[in-house]
Amino acid sequence: MEHRPSQDIDWVSAGDEHFTGAVRFGALSSGPDRSLNALGVLFEPGARTDWHTHPDGQVLYIVSGAGKVQTDAGETVRVTAGDVVYSPAGEKHWHGASENSFMMHLSLTTGGATEWLPDKVGDDDYRRG
Ligand code: MN
Repeated sequence: MEHRPSQDIDWVSAGDEHFTGAVRFGALSSGPDRSLNALGVLFEPGARTDWHTHPDGQVLYIVSGAGKVQTDAGETVRVTAGDVVYSPAGEKHWHGASENSFMMHLSLTTGGATEWLPDKVGDDDYRRG
């Protein structure tokens, strides 16, 4: 068994290259097999990812707070703690916190790195839905 107490997990800034607003990552994958990328992601109110896709899809589990997930097909869902969202491989989407709430989600992916698209999520897209 490997126990990693919460204070030993590094929550590092995600920076602004692929995000709008303040976002932190906590790397949660453990043990020798890192084929599953388990990432805690904390968004401040209004913070969100850029548009992106995942090579093998992505499961998001909303741990706390409230947020939004939107696809480029125009579908937007509002999510709160306990919700699960699955984005299939290659589906263009973004996720982030609501305007007035923090949001933490767990991101579960396999198959390698996120494919970032050049577009930031503008305020109009963000407010939609
Ligand atoms: Mn995603």
